[in-house]
Amino acid sequence: MTNSDDRQPRYRRILIKLSGEALMGSADYGIDAAFLRRLATEIAAVRELGVQAGIVIGGGNLFRGAGLARAGMDRVTADQMGMLATVMNSLALQDALESIGVFARVMSAIRINEVCEDYIRRRAVRHLEKGRITIFAAGTGNPFFTTDTAASLRAVEIEADLLLKATKVDGIFDSDPVGNPAARRYERLTYQQVLDQRLNVMDATAIVLCRDHLLPLRVFNLNEPGALVRAARGEDIGTLVTN
Ligand code: UDP
Repeated sequence: MTNSDDRQPRYRRILIKLSGEALMGSADYGIDAAFLRRLATEIAAVRELGVQAGIVIGGGNLFRGAGLARAGMDRVTADQMGMLATVMNSLALQDALESIGVFARVMSAIRINEVCEDYIRRRAVRHLEKGRITIFAAGTGNPFFTTDTAASLRAVEIEADLLLKATKVDGIFDSDPVGNPAARRYERLTYQQVLDQRLNVMDATAIVLCRDHLLPLRVFNLNEPGALVRAARGEDIGTLVTN
């Protein structure tokens, strides 16, 4: 969705994918309250643009199913713990948003009615239309999936114009920019290039969903202050993946 007037946001509705690790900020486990406050302020600024925002958060700062399974746990139970971890992160973000006066709703893919609403697509769209930040918790609700796939799925379901994937680096690179200072950033890629070159952005299931539903994906650096708002406004930062 484009708009020739630069003061108007380019997107009507977006889905932001945050990893659980992002919530750790400078800590090594759990949630960094100072980082969460900054994140809430940036999400509030996206809302101020008039862009409807859905959010999917991972759980990697607390539990990842694959890691627990490697330690000997049954994989399905481990993934259920991972999904519950995403619910905790979602509640923390909802709290941080509400504390600065932004209306937010957590909707879970697994039923925990004492804690939050169930994910019901029509109700989610209604929340978004009313300008509430809608946080999709518990991934897809199924083991053996990731929250990246949940992000693509929810983005397609709510008919988002863009999927914004927050990372710790400035976009997609030809090699790991943390280990290799000569790594080159791609400005644009196709979904197929991401799949063929096995570029480490999101798992293949998530990329295929974006590809098959022509959902543009932008990868950007969440640690750069203001980057989330700039990406939501449609500025050309990070890496854009399209057909
Ligand atoms: N998970 C799952 N199904 C889903 C989404 C997530 O079973 O649809 C589990 C899985 O165990 C995963 C954990 O939840 O490791 C946390 O999600 P993820 O690893 O995607 O979090 P992130 O890496 O983004 O922090």
